Amino acid sequence: MDSRLEAVRDTVLARNPGEKEFHQAVIEVFESLGPVHDRHPEFLEGAVLERLCEPERQIIFRVPWTDDAGRVHVNRGFRVEFNSALGPYKGGLRFHPSVYLGIVKFLGFEQIFKNALTGMPIGGGKGGSDFDPRGRSDAEIMRFCQSFMTELYRHIGEYTDVPAGDIGVGGREIGYLFGQYKRITNRYESGVLTGKGISWGGSLVRPEATGYGTVIFAQEMLKTRGASFDGQRVVVSGSGNVAIHAIAKAQSLGATVVACSDSAGYIVDEAGIDVALLSQIKEVERGRLTDYAARRPGASHVAGGSVWDVTGTVALPCATQNELDGDAAAKLVSNGLIAVAEGANMPSTREAVSVFQDAGILFGPGKAANAGGVATSALEMQQNASRDSWSFEHTEQRLTEIMVGIHDRCAATAEEYGAPGNYVVGANIGGFVKVADAMLAQGLI
Ligand code: GLU
Repeated sequence: MDSRLEAVRDTVLARNPGEKEFHQAVIEVFESLGPVHDRHPEFLEGAVLERLCEPERQIIFRVPWTDDAGRVHVNRGFRVEFNSALGPYKGGLRFHPSVYLGIVKFLGFEQIFKNALTGMPIGGGKGGSDFDPRGRSDAEIMRFCQSFMTELYRHIGEYTDVPAGDIGVGGREIGYLFGQYKRITNRYESGVLTGKGISWGGSLVRPEATGYGTVIFAQEMLKTRGASFDGQRVVVSGSGNVAIHAIAKAQSLGATVVACSDSAGYIVDEAGIDVALLSQIKEVERGRLTDYAARRPGASHVAGGSVWDVTGTVALPCATQNELDGDAAAKLVSNGLIAVAEGANMPSTREAVSVFQDAGILFGPGKAANAGGVATSALEMQQNASRDSWSFEHTEQRLTEIMVGIHDRCAATAEEYGAPGNYVVGANIGGFVKVADAMLAQGLI
């Protein structure tokens, strides 16, 4: 790493002790930025990086709620409003027991660059709670969401901060959150949340957008080597919203997706995953992959283990951070992998990324490859602002243009800074320069 940046990095690490995912995200970005500071000494003089690593505002709050038996529970809620140089803070809410400040900050930090890459007017933020939705009834989820919003509402707004979904937060939760926001504020402010239902201000294609976008990005990478998804054997991790729509899109382009996973194990389906069945089990019944294997002839379930043991030519990690380590990467490479696109946020460890890059594998980092979700959230905001709703075809066309644009910008930036084909460098520099220029233009804030 560039020595001028090392000092800044050390300060950031010392100042945010114990937040290992945030450290990882910061280091990964800093490693790309040396050449930018050679060309732009004004970024150093303006202490852009020091400012960028310190969130503009961090909110931590108590979320008390009662379960169906009347027992009181207390969770911790977070919203980190990281950077508003390009627009209102924008980023999802994650409900998962692993959530703590370090996770929210890594996600919020990544979101700044991701959102900049989309070319849409959105800043970066993230939030969530250590609440575990698994096994909770609808009524419990509703009461939790209402309690969460009872504090969050005072910090958000269509021109201030616009949350959306992430792990554990989908259409159902956004509905309960929106209802409570409306009730407290007495405002039908559609643009305050994205990922809403279609009949009440949501956008078509938003549910599909992250998974579809990841595959579109991967397809653009494959094209640079004269390849396509047609005939590829694809391995996906996860089986939530991102994974399901990535599988659907990859198969619509002629690939066979042979595996996906959940926290209990993975399934192998050599005939190609039946997306309708997977979606019915995971999204409607909120069931497990063991149910898929039981209902799908020819499919098998492997309890525990790693989905990355399955041979494939394209890997789409769509589960969670640090789910793919150096050993898994080496195994994938030795099994004939040609491309990886991250549907999740930071699913590959730093060792895994090095293994892929050293082996010359096409590697699309999450902040570029999974930006279709938040980009389509920005399209939802655009529709809300004009009180309009667009067709599926039009919205999907916009998403496709945005993803192709992100790919091309990353590729061109990597080339410009002497690292052709390195999408990590392209994404980090491309996102950073845009935000840094805006920060300098707006003065010392
Ligand atoms: N949570 C998603 C992400 O990681 C989407 C955020 C949004 O739509 O605001 O980008």
